[in-house]
Amino acid sequence: MRLRVDAASARRIIDRLADGIDLAGLSIGTFEGESFWTIEVRFSGRPDRNKIVQWVSEAAGAEIARTIAFESEANKDWVAASLTGLGPVRVGRFVVHGAHDRHEVAPNRIGIEIEAALAFGTGHHGTTRGCLAAIERVARGRSRRILDLGTGSGVLAIAAARAFRRPVVAGEIDPVATAAAQRNARGNRAGNFVQVIRADGVKHSAIRAGAPYDLVLANLLLQPLQRLARPVRALLAPGATVVLSGLMPAQANAALASFRAQGLVLRRREVIENWVTLTLTRS
Ligand code: SAH
Repeated sequence: MRLRVDAASARRIIDRLADGIDLAGLSIGTFEGESFWTIEVRFSGRPDRNKIVQWVSEAAGAEIARTIAFESEANKDWVAASLTGLGPVRVGRFVVHGAHDRHEVAPNRIGIEIEAALAFGTGHHGTTRGCLAAIERVARGRSRRILDLGTGSGVLAIAAARAFRRPVVAGEIDPVATAAAQRNARGNRAGNFVQVIRADGVKHSAIRAGAPYDLVLANLLLQPLQRLARPVRALLAPGATVVLSGLMPAQANAALASFRAQGLVLRRREVIENWVTLTLTRS
């Protein structure tokens, strides 16, 4: 589904949708323009359109709900459409870019080339940038075992593999994104470092086999993050860092509470374009 709305309505709509929908296998993106936001939600199956319209209506009024557009992804290259006209993204020493901006990467930077494909993670989104900034900070220390949950395009896994020069286990529930992450890892000469695994959360033997992790990245949404607090905690090395994103400001404390209940401590809270990234450690 796609919808163009003002920022305040966008926030209410995303909160309402996140309450109503089973979020596994689904991604929500917001693309912020000057006077409106575009909300795009990809569903793994066929959604109940009446319900979606009802929820949007409850959050932002019937008039806005009438402007929702639904389309089948077979007809549309979702991320390619949203990439049009967007330049490279620079966060710390990372430069995430499309093939057309390859020449924009200075030699002392880590260039990550992402092909426009059906996977979330072109680098432009506030959540991805928040996680890249967190990787940049953590990379001053040492992380030997790294896990990226909901890898999408693979952007964070590739960034971590290149920054730490260590192998990364990257989990993804969506088969199309899994294939895109594999291609992107190979294209960035990180194919031997990034092991992409199709899995729901941490439910895969290869993910368990890589534990204990020193760094876990999870750019998901509130509900899957809350569900993952306990299983992720079980895979952490002492002193491990956990980076959570995909949270609206009003949701951050709920995510934090779930991870605090597992004994993690908040180190940093960063807000980029109204998306919160939390960095925690296992004390
Ligand atoms: N890590 C990338 C992409 C984040 S988008 C970035 O930071 O830009 C979130 C991704 O998580 C989507 O690709 C979605 O398909 C995946 N996802 C959602 N629920 C999941 C789950 N339960 N287990 C694994 N992946 C999941």
